Amino acid sequence: MAFVSSGYNPDKPMENRISDIGPRDYNEFLPPVIKNNYGKWLYHEILEPGVLVHVAESGDEVYTVRCGTARLMSITLIREMCDIADKHCEGYLRFTTRNNVEFMTDSKDKMVALKEDLLSRKFEGGSYKFPVGGTGAGVSNIVHTQGWVHCHTPATDASGTVKVIMDDLFDEFTGHNMPAPVRIAVACCLNMCGACHCSDIAVVGIHRKPPIIDHEYLDNLCEIPLAVASCPTGAVRPSKVEIDGKQYKTVAIKEERCMYCGNCYTMCPSLPLSDKEGDGIALMVGGKVSNRISMPKFSKVVVAFIPNEPPRWPTLTKTIRNIVEVYKADANKYERLGDWAERIGWERFFEKTGIEFTPHLIDDFRDPAYYTWRQSTQFKF
Ligand code: SF4
Ligand code: SF4
Repeated sequence: MAFVSSGYNPDKPMENRISDIGPRDYNEFLPPVIKNNYGKWLYHEILEPGVLVHVAESGDEVYTVRCGTARLMSITLIREMCDIADKHCEGYLRFTTRNNVEFMTDSKDKMVALKEDLLSRKFEGGSYKFPVGGTGAGVSNIVHTQGWVHCHTPATDASGTVKVIMDDLFDEFTGHNMPAPVRIAVACCLNMCGACHCSDIAVVGIHRKPPIIDHEYLDNLCEIPLAVASCPTGAVRPSKVEIDGKQYKTVAIKEERCMYCGNCYTMCPSLPLSDKEGDGIALMVGGKVSNRISMPKFSKVVVAFIPNEPPRWPTLTKTIRNIVEVYKADANKYERLGDWAERIGWERFFEKTGIEFTPHLIDDFRDPAYYTWRQSTQFKF
């Protein structure tokens, strides 16, 4: 063990440590009631949309109130969350994988006061700061990526699209009107920092044009060998151009090889690929992580392209609302969106939703994925 030979003692991990890099032990952050009953829980129930109770063998109870958040949040809002946690929850809160914030209390009375307090807090415009919901057979908060606010390769916005989708589906967030949970994800490029590959409905930003080359700046801004090496399809090669009688060392891009992934832009800021017409959204549906009833599934593309229409993305929200409504009306209880589509057949999915089936939707990515990827977490012994 290299670590041990260098003096690291696994029994005393903090000994002689000179930095505090790395996460602290999560046990330090558990609310006392959870710490006391760790691993000794009997069952849990969803009392109403957004409110859960977990009951321990000891008889202790934890009441959780789940609220949607914007994920990219201001410091003032986070401070307000901390104040709420101090006031009602002994200073504890947690975030779920879908960016909900959960406040936990150890009694029903405290939970009722907490919920009232949360719902009384509103923004200037009148919308809830902490909408309660996102549990069970409803639409949970959307897990999403950075979008135009922060990342360098987005083909669509994340915060903006999430805001308009959730504005439209707000009643489904605060209710339990669906046959089963509906999980929505947004990733603003194919890198998919979100959970798009396995969500009931997934919004994925896609580029459709190769990068533009800023020849005059490239040599000064970029390492040409890095830009060449970054391309997974070998579309980038070193080149020279002459502009106004001046020679520039630059790159050339074989456009028919480009798959618009943006890797080269990550390495070289003189190869931007954002484009007003080329960028937009692909919509995928039917994925899930859950093992319940059927094995986990990947999402499938059902709409190949929706243009970016900020600030309210009307085509996107209309298409998602339509899928949600048809699913809600047609699926059996407990049937996830992908299970429903498989039961009725994907042809009927397109018929019922009225979504046009185009050649872009045919999955021709076969070998060797079909026989090498393990696509299930269901194991047989
Ligand atoms: Fe950036 Fe792509 Fe991740 Fe969006 S999905 S945050 S564009 S890497
Ligand atoms: Fe290569 Fe991707 Fe850049 Fe296209 S966008 S040139 S595929 S690295």
